[in-house]
Amino acid sequence: MRAPVFAANWKMNHGPRATRSYLEHFLSRYSARDDRTVIICPPAVSLEAARAALAARSDVLLGVQNIFWEEKGAFTGETSPVMAHEAGASVTLVGHSERRQLFGETDEMTARKCDAAWRGGLTPMLCVGESQDERDRDETRAVVLRQLRAGIGRLDASQVRRMMFAYEPVWAIGTGRTATPENASEVHGWIRAALADEVGEQAREIPLLYGGSVNAETAPRLMAAPNVDGLLVGGASLDAERWAHMACT
Ligand code: PEP
Repeated sequence: MRAPVFAANWKMNHGPRATRSYLEHFLSRYSARDDRTVIICPPAVSLEAARAALAARSDVLLGVQNIFWEEKGAFTGETSPVMAHEAGASVTLVGHSERRQLFGETDEMTARKCDAAWRGGLTPMLCVGESQDERDRDETRAVVLRQLRAGIGRLDASQVRRMMFAYEPVWAIGTGRTATPENASEVHGWIRAALADEVGEQAREIPLLYGGSVNAETAPRLMAAPNVDGLLVGGASLDAERWAHMACT
């Protein structure tokens, strides 16, 4: 039985001060539950503040939104997995569509980042998803599976079994358009089958999250869809009250 995963991606919102007040509010509304995993991905500069605000609430995990693959050195502006881990992260997003589209992240880069994440003590959550054009050309399956296979290309099966994946169609992110539960389920089924080819039966245990304009109304239907094990939520996670409500879906 896969425990559901609820992950919040704040994108470039909430500096350290806003992070403290958000988490104070969130924790007052969200009691620890052992039937699910909740992950919050603040901007890297807010990780320490988030860790301090969470204090003893080890049921809420922190993630970083992006990492570089080197441990340290002359890479201005980058964050290494080791540094993110030291600041409180235990998870990292890899290959979010905004990274791919706005910052030119390639499949090869996602492979290096997934590999570096494990070496630096972080669990990667690899994000995959097709653009509107690719969807219109009926290339969803090919694109998603290409991104998936490339992203895990440097990992061994034991690492793949312990990671998380998020299907995030680019046309749904931040647009107010959400995939139907049937759409999401179909793509998740393809992902699960591809993972089974890589790691065998244990692919059944790997959490597959859906992301793309999910809100409190659409969350329950998506969560009820076969093969949808969790949600990766951007805009609707920015408000502590709303996110506490969604994390209890
Ligand atoms: C995201 O940033 O991963 C995301 C899904 O954003 P939104 O929920 O705003 O579409």
